[in-house]
Amino acid sequence: MINWFTVAKLGHHFLLEILQEGDTALDGTMGNGHDTLMLAQAVGARGKVYAFDIQTQAINKTREKLAAANVLDERVQLIQDSHHKLSEYIVGPLQGAIYNLGYLPGSDKEIITRTDTTLAALQQTLELLSKGGRLVIVVYPGHPGGQEEKEAIEDMASRLDARQYKVLKVNLLNCPPSAPGVILIEKVVEKV
Ligand code: SAM
Repeated sequence: MINWFTVAKLGHHFLLEILQEGDTALDGTMGNGHDTLMLAQAVGARGKVYAFDIQTQAINKTREKLAAANVLDERVQLIQDSHHKLSEYIVGPLQGAIYNLGYLPGSDKEIITRTDTTLAALQQTLELLSKGGRLVIVVYPGHPGGQEEKEAIEDMASRLDARQYKVLKVNLLNCPPSAPGVILIEKVVEKV
């Protein structure tokens, strides 16, 4: 059945299509670590993954998940800080990046991604992407602030120069607008 899990899997699919052993990737919203683990397995022991979250609970959950999968090694850097400061940690280039927006399931629903910091983080991520690199954003417009965040991202993404970036949007057409969706941005050339 098509549901939110289909959308999440689609985000993984877009990155798994291009990520290779030894690549560098970013998880902008670590949460329970599903995306961090997917990235760590995709880039392999020679690769590097930077994962951000502002909550201690997310760092702990992700550390547990990585340890259980035997990938808790130097390839993954868990960073407890806001993703809008990512340029202080990452020099680049990045071959892949994912943001799963909103709140941490099973946690405080007041702690959500915010439009201004999300946009700042996405802008920096786009700068760091290598040619052929992909940024996946999973948007959840169903919670307070989620719709505004989604619209701001779509506005930003739709203004990107099509000679430098290609943008794809995937939505559930016959569901309420609160249903999750995926935005995929691929850097086609470094500079125009
Ligand atoms: N990717 C996660 C996974 O695989 O389980 C799910 C992420 S969850 C939907 C959103 C996460 O974003 C929450 O854990 C929340 O703490 C985090 N978050 C909110 N604001 C943030 C910020 N400014 N910087 C980094 N993470 C943030």
